[in-house]
Amino acid sequence: MDIYRTARERMVETQIKMRGIKDDKVIKAMLKVPRHLFVEEALRDQAYGDFPLPIGEGQTISQPYIVALMTEALELKGTERVLEVGTGSGYQTAILAEIALWVYTIEKYPTLQERAKRILLQELNYRNITFKIGDGSLGWKEASPFDAIIVTAASPQIPPPLIEQLAEGGRIVIPVGDAFSQMLVKGVKKGGLLHTKNLEPVRFVKLIGAYGFKE
Ligand code: SAH
Repeated sequence: MDIYRTARERMVETQIKMRGIKDDKVIKAMLKVPRHLFVEEALRDQAYGDFPLPIGEGQTISQPYIVALMTEALELKGTERVLEVGTGSGYQTAILAEIALWVYTIEKYPTLQERAKRILLQELNYRNITFKIGDGSLGWKEASPFDAIIVTAASPQIPPPLIEQLAEGGRIVIPVGDAFSQMLVKGVKKGGLLHTKNLEPVRFVKLIGAYGFKE
């Protein structure tokens, strides 16, 4: 039935495992989630390629390796409540929903989230995702604290509300920098303070919001 399975298996071998991703839960999720459903029909044959693809509104679905790297950095065991900023195509949302207990996902563009929601709820039947339209740089106070936070758009700084809404011991992964050059940063909250380290240079679209970039 799934004619894309071979492409998906090859993607996981050559782009994910060979580049050092080891978390079994991440690998299983990436083998399972049908990435081609998250891109428009004309791009389906490229869905398992080693690059981002356009998804409309000037936004992109992240490269598979970056999705794996960021998810692994969240160190999910399965019991976590996760906040995702930038639903976009919904692909990263599905990977998180496969592994975590619950995913709260915020997107700026209603058109993008509507599409993601239809695929995630109606086509793939996920039942552990809550959706919201808005400025994710403000976080989601009512649903906080979160055990893990992932931001899939680049920000000039780590938005303070996200640090506030992270649980003690929680992990955040976010690309930090300007429009052209960014570093993927991982933070762990200990004793109320965020301890950060740089993972690798990345290139994401901009986080537009109160603590992100101006429109
Ligand atoms: N994880 C997504 C990435 C999409 S690109 C995927 O792989 O498909 C980043 C997304 O962040 C875009 O959809 C963009 O519209 C959204 N975004 C930008 N600023 C935002 C903000 N302040 N709050 C929520 N979403 C935002």
